[in-house]
Amino acid sequence: MDQGFTVGTRHRVGAARRGLSMTNGIDIDPAIPPSGAGCVECLATDGWWYHLRRCAHCGHVGCCDSSPSQHASHHAVDTQHAVVQSFEPKEDWFWNYLTEQVLEGPSLAPPNHHPLDQPTPGPAGRVPDDWEDLLN
Ligand SMILES: [Zn+2]
Ligand SMILES: [Zn+2]
Repeated sequence: MDQGFTVGTRHRVGAARRGLSMTNGIDIDPAIPPSGAGCVECLATDGWWYHLRRCAHCGHVGCCDSSPSQHASHHAVDTQHAVVQSFEPKEDWFWNYLTEQVLEGPSLAPPNHHPLDQPTPGPAGRVPDDWEDLLN
């Protein structure tokens, strides 16, 4: 037996690192409409986002992990709501922050994306000129 080799110290990444410990798996409520047209926290704090994600359990709209504030994944950790759907036009994929996997899901209550006249990044008037340097 090789005493110098430690088994079981696998590198913990992603959701585990971020503190998600949900045990009930996929938690989707298709009847809940999205909370609004933009990231809840960014709109409340004069922030801006790159892409939007919608919580598939409670409808919270938050900004993606490329955005400066990453409110969607913070929401997942804070509330243990692991699954989001893209809130971008023409995108219908779901993402599970717990397993870090794309998954299939049901049709959620409309609207299924932010308003088409809302720019990316958004919202209009709040995005700094050097926004590309500020992405995560
Ligand atoms: Zn945000
Ligand atoms: Zn939620």
